[in-house]
Amino acid sequence: MRVTPAGRHVLILGGTTEARQLAAELVGGASGPGPTGAGLRVTSSLAGRVAEPRLPAGEVRIGGFGGPAGLAAWLREHRVDALVDATHPFAAGISRNAVEAAASAGVPLLALRRPGWEPGEGDDWHPVGSLAEAADVLPALGRRVFLTTGRQGLGCFAHLDGLHFLARSVDAPAPPLPADLAVLLDRGPFTLEGERAVLRRHRIDVLVTKDSGGAATAPKLTAARELRLPVVVVRRPDAPAGVATAPDVASAVAWLDRAYR
Ligand code: NAP
Repeated sequence: MRVTPAGRHVLILGGTTEARQLAAELVGGASGPGPTGAGLRVTSSLAGRVAEPRLPAGEVRIGGFGGPAGLAAWLREHRVDALVDATHPFAAGISRNAVEAAASAGVPLLALRRPGWEPGEGDDWHPVGSLAEAADVLPALGRRVFLTTGRQGLGCFAHLDGLHFLARSVDAPAPPLPADLAVLLDRGPFTLEGERAVLRRHRIDVLVTKDSGGAATAPKLTAARELRLPVVVVRRPDAPAGVATAPDVASAVAWLDRAYR
């Protein structure tokens, strides 16, 4: 039974597929009021990194809050009843801020974190702790690199003169950049067929990815396995300790129901 009272306000820290799915679920879309009850106010917050973001259902605000104190002030001013940190697993700064702000404003916090990827039979994965470490191991693994780590941080690869890079990002990257760089402007979800075609067309011999998890960008891993390519996998930063965590949207909705009961 869904018992969430109407008139409550949920703030979703977004920028991910799951954040958009959660907003759509809570708002209810075209089919009527969402599962947590009619009248629920849903605001999504985006950092403003992408020029033309896909906008979630419900209300949307864009831009930083000004650190944890700014976020806490926003929670109070807008009478937020629950905060869901549904940001990307590599967005460690905003997740830390969410913990501090929620505690200071006395607002329950849930982290919606999709599980990381696991290597399967036939995978040749090389786990590293950072983009800089990924750059260190690349010369021993290949010559034509597919970088799928986003446009931020490409400077970590700028000194690798002997390698050709294909970088995929939503918006064009800014310098510093590798000298031999082709850019593919695109955004997920991606298909296995499409990923196979990219790897073949650009004669890629090594892939670099963050351990983002989720289905939307996973087909590149299958395509790399099929072609027996090495994959450099950047491990996730540690998530803040002691925070309630949901692995998927359905669990997040269930947590919100319980929090309001
Ligand atoms: P970050 O390093 O953790 O955050 C840096 C600052 O950006 C935060 O302190 C905050 O500024 C602002 N910010 C971040 N996310 C915000 C949000 N959802 N709403 C309002 N302000 C936000 O973040 P990042 O790694 O640059 O990621 C930025 C956004 O892109 C996140 O929303 C994330 O979900 C999305 N994203 C990130 C990645 C990735 O690989 N990092 C991949 C895909 C999507 P103030 O301190 O001023 O509040």
